[in-house]
Amino acid sequence: AQAETQAEKAEVQAYFESTGFDRWNRIYSDSEEVNRVQRNIRLGHQKTVDAVLAWLQQQGDLASRSFCDAGCGVGSLSLPLAALGAGAIAASDLSAAMVAEASRRASEAGLASERLTFTVSDLESLQGRYDTVICLDVFIHYPQAAAEAMVRHLAAMAERQLIVSFAPYTPLLAVLKQIGQLFPGPSKTTRAYTLREDGIVAAAAAAGFRPVHRSLNQAPFYFSRLIAFERTPA
Ligand code: SAM
Repeated sequence: AQAETQAEKAEVQAYFESTGFDRWNRIYSDSEEVNRVQRNIRLGHQKTVDAVLAWLQQQGDLASRSFCDAGCGVGSLSLPLAALGAGAIAASDLSAAMVAEASRRASEAGLASERLTFTVSDLESLQGRYDTVICLDVFIHYPQAAAEAMVRHLAAMAERQLIVSFAPYTPLLAVLKQIGQLFPGPSKTTRAYTLREDGIVAAAAAAGFRPVHRSLNQAPFYFSRLIAFERTPA
């Protein structure tokens, strides 16, 4: 299974260094050059980001907390989080192209500072301890077992909180996916996996975390289950 995950990861990386970068950089921007599906993915994803920012702001004390944004993409979460005054943000992504764009956007927005660092790394290789570890819309690229292993790894780095989002397995989504397969072509993404929420929750529980917030963020062509976990008091 590990060799399979490695192959999967190499494929995902190659995609996000090339066509995937172009596609997702456009989706995660305000560029007009997006089709209807991409515009909906943009809207749905923004709901996920907004939900996370709202939870974090409710908890407050952002300036004294450290954050890890694993699979940060072009910085859609890290940049606004830095703008809100987060103490330290370690943003990383498997794709050098994504990281370069995130860093460019940070400079352009006047957010470049030593409190916001960018690193090219797969999340499995990340180390360190953070108050809060966040990983949004990354597990979509991996099957259940690999995603659960990622949850356990990320949880081990989180002192207090772990926030993840993923496409939940639902019969409706299974149908949509099949329809998606009828339209192959250059705009098609890599394989997309939907995940069983109970498995994700069990993986977090095995690492000592329990769910404290849950939301479903959606738009046509976008479904994302967002869960915030907290370390269970010893
Ligand atoms: N989290 C960002 C967001 O919500 O804006 C980006 C989401 S994008 C759909 C998925 C990102 O995950 C891509 O930037 C991709 O390069 C990254 N990624 C995929 N597999 C990864 C891995 N194993 N480790 C770190 N990043 C990964």
